[in-house]
Amino acid sequence: MTSERKRILVTGGTGLVGSAIKHIFESESNKEKLNEEYFFISSSECDLRNREQTETLFKKYQPTHVIHLAALVGGLFRNLSRNLDFFRDNMQINDNVLSVAYQIGVKKVISCLSTCIFPDKTTYPIDETMIHNGAPHDSNFGYSYAKRMIDVLNKGYSAQHGVHYTSIIPTNVFGPHDNFNIEDGHVLPGLIHKCYLAKKNNTPLVIWGSGKPLRQFIYSYDLAKLCLWVVREYDSIEPIILSVGEEDEVSIKEAAEAVVKGMNFQGEIKYDTTRDDGQFKKTASNKKLRSYLPDFKFTSFDQAVKFTCDWFEANYDKARK
Ligand code: NDP
Repeated sequence: MTSERKRILVTGGTGLVGSAIKHIFESESNKEKLNEEYFFISSSECDLRNREQTETLFKKYQPTHVIHLAALVGGLFRNLSRNLDFFRDNMQINDNVLSVAYQIGVKKVISCLSTCIFPDKTTYPIDETMIHNGAPHDSNFGYSYAKRMIDVLNKGYSAQHGVHYTSIIPTNVFGPHDNFNIEDGHVLPGLIHKCYLAKKNNTPLVIWGSGKPLRQFIYSYDLAKLCLWVVREYDSIEPIILSVGEEDEVSIKEAAEAVVKGMNFQGEIKYDTTRDDGQFKKTASNKKLRSYLPDFKFTSFDQAVKFTCDWFEANYDKARK
């Protein structure tokens, strides 16, 4: 018996996570048998903040499934200065995507939350049940509240219309096609870019903050494999954290050391402690994921950082920076 063909629209398909899903799907050896077709969409094809454009996009591709990744995203420093934009843009994008998906009869939508939207004052490890338990960190309240509303929308669509709209919660993602902009990007791609420049210009590598905060990083290719599993197998409305284990949490200092090794940087390393550290930690539990996939193998952090450094050096001219 052949399964019904899936037409999967990936919003934000040209970003870090979207391009990893493309890479992993295209390298699957049994993809012919899967009866799946993917469409990777960028903002140049459709501005999802605009309702009309969103309707035109969905009518064109007639998706049965949506992986909704598109978002206004950025690191700590960009969030701090633009909380209102992060809230409004993401609220518009998410409402348009989910309501148009419902309007044209999409069966399953998988949207992306993030561990940085969880309550600031909390117990650790955080898990999927704790999203709404208190205010998020002040530095990114706009992004956080907009993301939390996706979970509210998913529950509403399920309760009122019986459709299967769910969400995934990745920890810090990194890999090829990341945003390597030093001011606007996330910590790891920012470190890679700074290290690349320090090596090239023979200057010290300056790490922002104390280096003490802890983070769980997931390699985009590992996350992409998990996203495909969610499309095919995960059947709950409730969010699921997609992360390495608590034991794999690293400090920013350790992350910088992995970058230094990956880039083969021999120069001086300095810490600029006048810069904000952000949340000290946001340790997440991957117990739920492990209950479904006990044997999933994550790429080792050092190896994944090395792959990403190599990709950045080889693609310096075209990389987002
Ligand atoms: P990127 O910044 O790499 O990509 C963002 C994508 O969204 C791009 O394809 C961009 O298109 C698209 N996009 C942005 N604004 C619009 C818009 N108005 N209309 C249509 N498309 C738009 O993001 P990531 O791949 O890093 O993130 C993917 C998802 O994962 C996001 O929802 C993010 O919140 C979540 N996430 C990310 C984490 C991380 O560490 N990166 C951690 C946890 C969650 P274009 O490039 O063409 O402008």
